[in-house]
Amino acid sequence: MLVVLMGPPGAGKGTQAERVTKEFNLLHISTGDILRGAVKEETPLGKEAKEYMDRGALVPDEVIINIMKERLAKPDCVAGVLLDGFPRTVEQAEALENVLKDLHLNIDAVINVDVSPDELLDRLTGRRVCRSCGSTYHMKFNPPRVRNICDHCSGELYQRSDDTVDTVKERLEVYGKQTLPLIEYYQRKNLYHAVDGARPIDEVFEDIATHLKEGKG
Ligand code: ADP
Ligand code: AMP
Repeated sequence: MLVVLMGPPGAGKGTQAERVTKEFNLLHISTGDILRGAVKEETPLGKEAKEYMDRGALVPDEVIINIMKERLAKPDCVAGVLLDGFPRTVEQAEALENVLKDLHLNIDAVINVDVSPDELLDRLTGRRVCRSCGSTYHMKFNPPRVRNICDHCSGELYQRSDDTVDTVKERLEVYGKQTLPLIEYYQRKNLYHAVDGARPIDEVFEDIATHLKEGKG
């Protein structure tokens, strides 16, 4: 199964991806996580990407497309994949289609987690992430049991450097201009399915799971 999880920054893609990948035994591939890993390791990719990420812009299409071409060709993708944060432009979506064609794979479902812009600002500025295992929390909406400590691995929680008010506003604007056209793109291909993401995490998950189970027939 190959699932694309879409939605604006802060919609809950990473949060849902943690659960969906467990339930359906899929590999979670997040371009944001790949890029943050490269930034942390100070690789040439990381150094290039950081400049874009810090100001809330998208990393250039050709850079992302090359990363994903390599990643999707690895053998661990065979069992099934959930893509989180990719594609983010129509050019990336077209490139994904070509890569999948070469690998004899198809997208089974595109799920858009839909949340209004007002709520996204609160979600992103209150987000905290585990430094060790990457689990996502929210100070108000999904707090850890112990303040600033990950429930799963006892790692330290931190705030992403692009989750500040100004960068979040820029990211939401970029989403509207560059990523929103993908909804129509996937609607035309009859792959698109929207879920209302402005509900409790468990309810959003149930909707996604029901859709994927129906899709699997
Ligand atoms: P994305 O990966 O789409 O950027 P995240 O999964 O990181 O979004 O979620 C953004 C923030 O919102 C996190 O702090 C997360 O804990 C919180 N969150 C996720 N889903 C919900 C929800 N359904 N209701 C309230 N808060 C949520
Ligand atoms: P995310 O973790 O998905 O919120 O992504 C964080 C940042 O990484 C974004 O603001 C972009 O700068 C960059 N990024 C992640 N995925 C992509 C992508 N598919 N295309 C371009 N830039 C991306």
